[in-house]
Amino acid sequence: MRKLAAGNWKMNGTSAELAEVSALIAAQAKPGCEMLLCPPATLLARMADIAAGSALMVGGQDCHAKTAGAHTGDISADMLKDAGATHVILGHSERRADHGETDIAVRAKATAALAAGLTAIVCVGETEAQRDAGRTLDVIGTQLAGSLPAQMTGAADSLVIAYEPVWAIGTGRTPTLDEVAEVHAFIRTTLTTRFGEVAKAMRLLYGGSVKASNAADIFAVPHVNGALVGGASLKASDFGPIVAALAAS
Ligand code: PEP
Repeated sequence: MRKLAAGNWKMNGTSAELAEVSALIAAQAKPGCEMLLCPPATLLARMADIAAGSALMVGGQDCHAKTAGAHTGDISADMLKDAGATHVILGHSERRADHGETDIAVRAKATAALAAGLTAIVCVGETEAQRDAGRTLDVIGTQLAGSLPAQMTGAADSLVIAYEPVWAIGTGRTPTLDEVAEVHAFIRTTLTTRFGEVAKAMRLLYGGSVKASNAADIFAVPHVNGALVGGASLKASDFGPIVAALAAS
């Protein structure tokens, strides 16, 4: 299975930061794993132009479940594709918290993304209170049950799950490697029960305070097939070594 290093720029970046994209491409000419950046929608088409012909792919950070219509401020999966995206992040905890996105809404978006030919990166993860209450696997199981498309229509690698403990995002804190292993094994088993053999080829990403100094350890955990990286994806000098660690894992 081809591993995936995905960067989420969130609401960061204007034209000036596009220089980081060229620097990343130059430093990772043949990365040895899939390499993706998801910029804000305003930079998507320009980033796709810069990335054209390189090993870097670009993706969106959200999409609407409908293909077009009266939805002010929203962007459809087809529009992302038209702008040059190959992937889209869906159900990120910040969207679940800031925009009240439910599992049902995330499922509709993931279904739309797959129908448009995009790879859907569906995020799941527990809050600190849920982990402290011993509910982590229950929460992840419920999110997987509700947020994933009812059926897998495309190739196994078109559906990616990102396990992102909410309390680890942007905090510098990470679960222990045993905790990462437990959740990733649980996700693999849950996907296999639901989708069958195809689930063995689905990529499972860990996300939450991944940086160059902890990347190799995280990538050595079974069923970790890559990372979703926030803060450390903004600079080529931070993201490049994470991509290299994944390629070497
Ligand atoms: C994220 O927001 O998906 C994320 C993992 O952020 P960070 O790497 O900054 O913790």
